[in-house]
Amino acid sequence: MNIQVQLCGIVIVLLLIRMSINRKSIWLRTKKVFLLALFSTFVALIFDALSIVAIVSANGNYTVYTKTICKIYLLSLVWMTFSMNLYTNVNIGAKHFVIRLHRILSMIFLAFITILISIIPIQIHYTSSTDLYTYGPAVIATYAAALFYTIINVFVLISFRKRMNNRRWRASMLWMFLLLAAAIVQFINSSLLIIGFTSAIGILIVFIRLENPESFIDRESGCFNDLAFNAYLDQCYIRGERISMFSVNFVNPHFLYERYDNESVNFFLKEFTKILDQNPDGQVFKYGEWEYIVTFSRNTPLDIASEKIQTSLNKEWLIEGDRATIDLIFTEIPNSFIARDAETMLEMMRAFKRDYKNSSDKLLVMDENWADTYRREKEIEDMIISAMRDDRVQVYYQPIYSTAKKRFVSAEALVRIINEDGELIPPGAFIPVAEDTELILQLGLIVFEKACRFIKEEKLYEKGIEYLEINLSAVQCIRTDMAEVLTKIIRDVGLDPKHINLEITESKAIQNTDILINNMEKLRRIGVTFSLDDFGTGFSNLDYLLDLPIKIVKFDHKMTQAYFENAKRRTMMSGVINMIKSVDLEIVAEGVEEKHQLDELSNINIDFIQGYYFSKPVPPEQFLQLLDTHN
Ligand code: C2E
Ligand code: MG
Ligand code: MG
Repeated sequence: MNIQVQLCGIVIVLLLIRMSINRKSIWLRTKKVFLLALFSTFVALIFDALSIVAIVSANGNYTVYTKTICKIYLLSLVWMTFSMNLYTNVNIGAKHFVIRLHRILSMIFLAFITILISIIPIQIHYTSSTDLYTYGPAVIATYAAALFYTIINVFVLISFRKRMNNRRWRASMLWMFLLLAAAIVQFINSSLLIIGFTSAIGILIVFIRLENPESFIDRESGCFNDLAFNAYLDQCYIRGERISMFSVNFVNPHFLYERYDNESVNFFLKEFTKILDQNPDGQVFKYGEWEYIVTFSRNTPLDIASEKIQTSLNKEWLIEGDRATIDLIFTEIPNSFIARDAETMLEMMRAFKRDYKNSSDKLLVMDENWADTYRREKEIEDMIISAMRDDRVQVYYQPIYSTAKKRFVSAEALVRIINEDGELIPPGAFIPVAEDTELILQLGLIVFEKACRFIKEEKLYEKGIEYLEINLSAVQCIRTDMAEVLTKIIRDVGLDPKHINLEITESKAIQNTDILINNMEKLRRIGVTFSLDDFGTGFSNLDYLLDLPIKIVKFDHKMTQAYFENAKRRTMMSGVINMIKSVDLEIVAEGVEEKHQLDELSNINIDFIQGYYFSKPVPPEQFLQLLDTHN
């Protein structure tokens, strides 16, 4: 019965070896170590069976030849547990001191134990083909070494769990557990020779879960998939290998499926990837639905390879008899070391794509300059996140003066960040990044809530401040739940919504004004009013004035200053003011810095004045003092 079980194990391992070697694969280190484990398992199984045959046929007369076969079996068991250890080590892959030490010590120990087992004696027990086993010092040393490796492995697995991919961790643990269980069973009942077979099952599990080359291959195109790309990139960074990359994106992929049938498209894609795969040094990955990435080692000049591929792809394709050209965007990443690890590189690749989403360029290069900007923005992003976390987001207030009532009737809430060194960071330095990364959603709510609480707690309405103006970013405006979210905050604070005026700005980001209008209507119904900010800065679109439920128009300070520049502009401004007044809107002039400006603007129908002439934006306490002295 023992022999049959060994044979089953051998068949399994042979199949695994065939499947592992005979497929297209990228040579990740984990794969190499896996093959070592597979190979030692195979040797263990073969020699397990051979030793049974040798013992039975020797029939009590054990020569060096029989004992050598038994010892090779023992050694292969030790090598098997060693390679499991190495597999864990490579999987963690970190340049961690403990991991390096672990690897070196495991190897030294392996050399030592191999020599030891080779020279110390082994004994054989044999009564019948089902009651047969080896024992003695060599066997004890083998068990001890295997146990040692297994315990160390479990220890490393547990200590470095966070550094390992979850799936890898679980499969490795299961492999360990199976082997340990088999060893215990065999130790208790030495004639049950199940270690070999159990290790075949263990390695089968690892193969299915982790090392199946098929799982790294995209079925349709036959290139490597994104899993493979991530693993490969990871390995390049861990081993300090610099690579360059070239990626191809389809601009309008859906047109292919719309125009041609699936089979033709698949055929075209096969041809397409063949062109990418011309360079023997390049590995082609299909990344996501419509992107292909070719990686090159530092030996291949990227510019030459890239140009060759571009020329070949930019040709006319013959699909279903049609001559079609395919709209493609190429990206070169000349040096993978602009990122410090795989995760950062992937993040940079995503950011790069976002940056160039609307670009019309067909060839983009992710170079050092771009990486510098990216890093700066990343720093700002981190600064915003930490400021929000540590409550270092501050709201300053700049008073707004009514030319009719001759006092401050409102104020604009303007965000600031106090950085870790206590330095005040103006919004111009972080709002654009907050908008790009959508952190503005959270930041905007923090400002909104602080401003609401300020009105309520300080009872600003009793100090003459009828409402506060709070800026909303376009990113916030196009969220379908914006009105609900803001309404909830107003309710939670217990504020009358009429004390809030929201400033919105025209933006290319607001392509669908329906959502914006819907949000504004909901808020207007509960009493919130709106201003149109930055009027006069480029895209002043009159539709905005007419279609949106706005109460106030805010002249940007450039627009205000223009009034004082020359007669022509003054005439033009008067026309604009009359037009705005004719549709019953009020006007705030921002950027008023001098007394004469205040006087002149008061005479031409400007309702409110905001500017350094009265005050710069100031912290809440100072704003309250300002109200005490002025109102
Ligand atoms: P904005 O909404 O147009 O705000 C007016 C800006 O003009 C403020 O700059 C203010 O300090 C400045 N200003 C006011 N009077 C004068 C003046 O007399 N002379 C000059 N030279 N400048 C004056 P700040 O505070 O740096 O804000 C810049 C922009 O940042 C704001 O422009 C607004 O677009 C944005 N921002 C500020 N806070 C927030 C916020 O909480 N959320 C959003 N989404 N954006 C904000
Ligand atoms: Mg504003
Ligand atoms: Mg403004």
